[in-house]
Amino acid sequence: MYADIVLPLAQPAYTYAVPEGMALEVGEAVSVQFGLRKYYTGIVWRLHDERPRVKQVKPIVRKVYDRPLIDERGRALWEWVAAYYMSSLGEVMRCALPSLIKPSADSDSQLLEETFYPRTERYYALSEAYRDEQLLNETLDRMERRAPRLHEALLEVAAELDKRGTQEVARRLLSVDATPLQTLVKKGILSRTEHTPDEEHGVPSFRLPILTEHQQEALEKLRADFAAGRTTALLHGVTGSGKTEIYIHLVAEVLARGGDVLLLVPEIALTAQLIERMERIFGSRVTAYHSRLTNQRRSENYLRLNRSQGGEFVVGVRSSIFLPLKHLQLIIVDEEHDASYKQADPAPRYSARDVAVWMAHQTGGRTLLGSATPSLETWLNASTGKYGHARLTERYGEAELPQIYLSDTRRAAQRGERHGHFNKLLIDKIGGALERGEQVMLFQNRRGFAPYLECPQCGWTARCPHCNVTLSYHKYRAQLVCHYCGHSEPVVTRCPSCKVVDLQPMGFGTEKIEEQIAELFPEARVARLDRDQLTSESALNRIIEDFSAHRTDILVGTQMITKGFDFEAVSLVGVLNADNLLLNPDFRASERAFQLLQQVAGRAGRRGAGGEVVIQTADPTNPVLRQVLNDDFRAMAHEQLAERQSYLYPPYARLTVITLRHVDVQIVRRAAAELGDRLRKRFGRRLLGPIAPAVDRIRGEYLMQLMLKIESSASRLKANAMLAEEIEKSRRQPDQKSLTISLNVDPQ
Ligand code: ADP
Ligand code: ZN
Ligand code: ZN
Repeated sequence: MYADIVLPLAQPAYTYAVPEGMALEVGEAVSVQFGLRKYYTGIVWRLHDERPRVKQVKPIVRKVYDRPLIDERGRALWEWVAAYYMSSLGEVMRCALPSLIKPSADSDSQLLEETFYPRTERYYALSEAYRDEQLLNETLDRMERRAPRLHEALLEVAAELDKRGTQEVARRLLSVDATPLQTLVKKGILSRTEHTPDEEHGVPSFRLPILTEHQQEALEKLRADFAAGRTTALLHGVTGSGKTEIYIHLVAEVLARGGDVLLLVPEIALTAQLIERMERIFGSRVTAYHSRLTNQRRSENYLRLNRSQGGEFVVGVRSSIFLPLKHLQLIIVDEEHDASYKQADPAPRYSARDVAVWMAHQTGGRTLLGSATPSLETWLNASTGKYGHARLTERYGEAELPQIYLSDTRRAAQRGERHGHFNKLLIDKIGGALERGEQVMLFQNRRGFAPYLECPQCGWTARCPHCNVTLSYHKYRAQLVCHYCGHSEPVVTRCPSCKVVDLQPMGFGTEKIEEQIAELFPEARVARLDRDQLTSESALNRIIEDFSAHRTDILVGTQMITKGFDFEAVSLVGVLNADNLLLNPDFRASERAFQLLQQVAGRAGRRGAGGEVVIQTADPTNPVLRQVLNDDFRAMAHEQLAERQSYLYPPYARLTVITLRHVDVQIVRRAAAELGDRLRKRFGRRLLGPIAPAVDRIRGEYLMQLMLKIESSASRLKANAMLAEEIEKSRRQPDQKSLTISLNVDPQ
């Protein structure tokens, strides 16, 4: 017997011999020798008796776990991802399995299945003495006046215990805050334990939010669309309309049936709030899965889910799409338009959202895409009836959509009403908000103090030695940093070229804004949030907590502040410069700018009325800005889709970008020209390029690109096969051996 084993490499499967007496199943993990010294954990992909045509077939060393790591559904998924995104199964394996599960050293560092933790949940009970009704009542009476919050918490615990006739109640069934509960424990009135949940008999109970009429209608529309056979649906709801409440109801339904649910979220650090919200309702059913967990923890989660009998609720980032949820019935993709669902590097360059849509189609499960600003691809599918579609057009409760102002930076400058990067309008609004004790968020989509250093005399700029880009100036670290390769160097003060002049930072980033705001409003408490802070999670959390608890007044940030935050006291959002969003040469620039500005605006006035947004721009007549101003998604979609159709861009065409890299610029140019000629013979005018991309040198390698643009009606897999054939020819050319060719299918 032989087994084809997928190894975590950009290689096809290798064939090994199955030793006498070893009972193997497809999907199992085995340890095999590769080359002379290396050992890898691989996955058994196929069992057969076709002796390979090599002299010596190595035997499998041993089995690694006592059950398959992936089932048939998982194997079909890996194969589709590999074929669609033009990568090897090994590359899919690398990204699908957590690293401890696939140790590649020759040591025995493998994770033992027994070591993973069982799920635990928090429970509250009345302490022994307080189970006496009289004492309890006296205590409650005493608290009612003096400590109303404690009174409320204790009353709820007592009522729940009474209602259920149990000794203890799970945290997820309580609606009170954590603080009074903690105080009651400290006072010895309540006791807290953490243990594995007791078997839940019958239908598990969750404390679900009561939906508004509109929310209920949207939920029923989704149910009806799903029941009518639509495998994917879009929930298009403005920020704060209660999409999450609808998710919660759908999740509870599936869990009650014993099915699994996967909730995909864009960037986990920023969705800590969402996970917490889910845990408060679904308790230990929630498994968080993201890159901030330790390797150990991620591996444990994988193995635990692999043995689960169902009823799992995973909240995770894009790679959780590969988790072994065997009873997966529902995938929810929150903020489905978010570009982070697409893996940029390394291969497979998959889109978790698109994989989710494929999975529902394939397995009969359901996929719900949620967004306030859906991608045009999704919106087109929903408006043509291919996807189900429900809308939420109002914010929950008293909250109204914010009032948006476009503020002309050029005119302000002419009138002398511009101070630093702030127009008078924005300054006045900030002043007003601070006076009323409200909070402000300021958005600037460039990080660092300034994008680059420039000599005002000779024009010299600080550039990365490895990439064709300028270095970004980070004032507080006193460093110049390359945002492409991470190269950093100390700031030079004298121009190295003309050696005369002091260098000036050009442009402006979040740090500069923070500095100017401190000058304008010296008494305001200002914090800054951008990727630089992400290096430490605790620092990030502190910034968010401080702002959330109103210990800071103004939060300055990049993209990061647009995602999913829910701060109650923010009444004003300022966008310092909308122009660099719009001037981006990407065909998605307008769509992205609209999405981003709407998301930013959505942070204003989440509760109550009167949120305001000031967008500063040099071009206030820009159609996209008008569409943002009028909150007119439909107009934006129609205009952009018309443009995409006439220039043949997604969703009317499918794109694949082919990137060639080499340290020798001549070799890469020749190879690109040659591959381009061969591809043009097969694809004709569907092939564009080669061209040098905007950043044409990264980490010392030169880049050239080709783009394939095929009609959306054509078969992607057929085109992929033709493309793969030609690329293989390039790879076989002796002078192009050290060339790297990478493929990006459906680039974002
Ligand atoms: P979205 O996900 O659409 O941005 P959320 O679900 O986060 O909106 O709702 C916005 C706010 O309104 C949240 O604080 C949420 O708790 C509250 N909310 C929305 N719907 C309800 C409801 N039916 N009952 C109670 N609170 C609600
Ligand atoms: Zn660089
Ligand atoms: Zn100079």
